Amino acid sequence: MHDKTLAQQSQMLKSSQTSSVELVNHYLERIERLNPDINAYVSVNADEARVAAADADKTRAAGNAGALTGIPIAHKDIFCTKGITTTCGSRILQNFKAPYDATVVTRLADAGVVSLGKANMDEFAMGSSNENSYYGPVSNPWQRDRVPGGSSGGSAALVAARLAAAATGTDTGGSIRQPAAFCGITGIKPTYGRVSRYGMIAFASSLDQGGPMAQTAEDCALLLQAMSGHDVRDSTSSTLDVPDFSASLDRDLKGLRVGVPTEYFADGLDDGVAVAVQAALAELEKAGAILKEISLPNQQHCIPAYYVIAPAEASSNLSRFDGVRFGYRCENPQDLEDLYTRTRGEGFGDEVKRRILIGAYALSAGYYDAYYKKAQQVRQLVSNDFTEAFKEVDVIAGPTTPTVAFKSGEKTDPISMYLNDLFTVSANLSGLPGLSAPCGFSDGLPVGLQLVAPVFEEARLLNIAHRYQQITDWHAQSPAGTD
Ligand code: GLN
Repeated sequence: MHDKTLAQQSQMLKSSQTSSVELVNHYLERIERLNPDINAYVSVNADEARVAAADADKTRAAGNAGALTGIPIAHKDIFCTKGITTTCGSRILQNFKAPYDATVVTRLADAGVVSLGKANMDEFAMGSSNENSYYGPVSNPWQRDRVPGGSSGGSAALVAARLAAAATGTDTGGSIRQPAAFCGITGIKPTYGRVSRYGMIAFASSLDQGGPMAQTAEDCALLLQAMSGHDVRDSTSSTLDVPDFSASLDRDLKGLRVGVPTEYFADGLDDGVAVAVQAALAELEKAGAILKEISLPNQQHCIPAYYVIAPAEASSNLSRFDGVRFGYRCENPQDLEDLYTRTRGEGFGDEVKRRILIGAYALSAGYYDAYYKKAQQVRQLVSNDFTEAFKEVDVIAGPTTPTVAFKSGEKTDPISMYLNDLFTVSANLSGLPGLSAPCGFSDGLPVGLQLVAPVFEEARLLNIAHRYQQITDWHAQSPAGTD
């Protein structure tokens, strides 16, 4: 059953070939057997999942089932779940039980989805390899000595290892798309504002966006439908109508103008990745698309701008973890200052501390104009590049990542880690939707094709990826050793 996509499982439930209880038990058995090696789940809520599955089966028997009723998934451990621990990959939230569910969690539960557990992640979603989790690294199911990507590495690895049909993720600079690429699955970062951030622990509020990760674009469409839409609890969530994402999946690609940025095929891109992505572009062309070379002249400034803005916002957001209100508190504080410094010193890991330091520095009175303000100006230029490009093309395509999954422990200096986000951060800086779909292999490891569209055009991305997945079968391959 686990080799079936979410959409196929939905059909099986509909035609009574299986039940939600059966599906949930099947996954729970697999998680028990395979998760210790992969470490994709940080917690499993077996009892709650069985109860929810039985409820879903009753809803179905009563004739009230929707497409997602009874489907088991996992939530990235950045989404607050009422009564179930939410760690955000950090020691500081080790025993934190949120008093409410994130809107994404509520909406998916309302659609009938059953949560199996919480997915491992880089601490506070800072990272590109999932090596920054307090709960241990996640291994890539394709080659266990490789990283799954980050920060939604647990979500990506568990979908790749077929430990759930899908998972939620969040993407601040690439954290849905990059791990999706490294693990050979499909993931979409929606337009900023499409999905409510309420109850999603904040990293960089002007960049963060939640989205689905699954085997196929068709599966992502079903999940995104349930996750999207205005939320009175998130004033940055959009009031625009949410289109029917599944309805446009089959649209013909004839005449679709695909922009291929020159800057994406320059230095730093691995040959194996370039070959797979070029082959994918050729497939799109065969399907009727028109390829057009374009330029994104400020591409080289994306990483520096992102790594000022994201830490600046993080340093502000993370000030709420002080030992007074949430989670971990140091032993025997002598006074208030001691409480703050030791709680934060003991509770946060190295990368989180680095970001807080950089962010606080960039925002400080003497440096604000030189760093933060400058980075915001660059952000506008990056966004303008896309506006120009979208006058000529309907979608922009290229590699999701410069390389395939690297070895655990291989990247020790922060800069080489940050360079993983070379092609992904621009969509966050501009608020645009981006999708990664599997498009081949290099050295036995998956390669991702990234598609970026104008704001609120998620349907276009899902349509292109779905058509591509009908003429290729990269998305259907699963790693050895996960039977
Ligand atoms: N790798 C990037 C970072 O470390 C992106 C993380 C993310 O998207 N959450 O900031």
